[in-house]
Amino acid sequence: DPAPEAQGGGVLSRLFGRKTGPAEVKRVLDDDMVESLEELLISADMGVETALRVTANMAEGRMGRRLSAREIKELLASEIARIMEPVAKPLPLYPTKPQVVLVVGVNGSGKTTTIGKLASQFRAAGKKVVIAAGDTFRAAAVEQLQIWGDRAGVPVLTAPEGSDPASLAFDAMTKAQADGADLLMIDTAGRLQNRADLMEELAKIVRVIRKKDPDAPHNTLLVLDATTGQNALSQVETFQKLADVSGLVMTKLDGTAKGGVLVALADRFGLPIHAIGVGEQIDDLAPFDPEEFAAALTG
Ligand code: GDP
Repeated sequence: DPAPEAQGGGVLSRLFGRKTGPAEVKRVLDDDMVESLEELLISADMGVETALRVTANMAEGRMGRRLSAREIKELLASEIARIMEPVAKPLPLYPTKPQVVLVVGVNGSGKTTTIGKLASQFRAAGKKVVIAAGDTFRAAAVEQLQIWGDRAGVPVLTAPEGSDPASLAFDAMTKAQADGADLLMIDTAGRLQNRADLMEELAKIVRVIRKKDPDAPHNTLLVLDATTGQNALSQVETFQKLADVSGLVMTKLDGTAKGGVLVALADRFGLPIHAIGVGEQIDDLAPFDPEEFAAALTG
């Protein structure tokens, strides 16, 4: 029978599962073992570069030692947590009114849902929130955002289909300032098919809101779907060219997503992870907890 830890389906259970029995059984940390660990981390979506670094750090000074599955798991988890700790930061809140949060990401990544969840959290914390439905070319997206705004009890500003997102953003700034709102969240289009267009669209939104507040947007949140695995890395690169990305929200970590890509993201870009999406309901947005994450990934 597999050890209790071997039932969770994490990285270590696959190495020490049925073959080696209980978690206390020791094995020599040799090149073969290190290679197996690398492979397991890569298969958990961590990417080659990061997986090699994590296992090398973990093995340093320990080669030839006899280690139990439990010890190896703890050592790997602590290496992973060490990479993740600096990026685990909730969205910083400023006294500026309104704090403008631009939300970017490809369609389907969970932008709308995340805006709804964040709006609900901020509102529960006593903040006055306004949402601008800046993806004016997708009627369905605007409708969805309105539904989420209703759920969160937050007004959603919309504009006629196909109208200029920057002009909506300007109107939203005006309203948010007039209402004394604490936060203005601006949804944006996520069609990467025409990057030049999208870049111009985002740049124009930024230009226009800066007429009202030269420091806006105060945050540019990139929403990423964890189930896209290594694709998330190229999405960060792409959006960094399109906008001044200041932080990430990783959605769909509740599903079968292996989550290892978060370690690769942290290792490569060091962008703060402000929250993680753990379901489709309004309360399914959690702070990112590096220890818990590392334990689950290696479990
Ligand atoms: P958008 O196109 O980027 O605005 O994406 P949506 O917010 O419409 O989300 C796309 C789909 O992903 C919807 O079916 C959401 O319910 C789903 N979704 C968003 N976030 C999460 C999450 O954290 N977990 C799960 N399981 N589904 C999510």
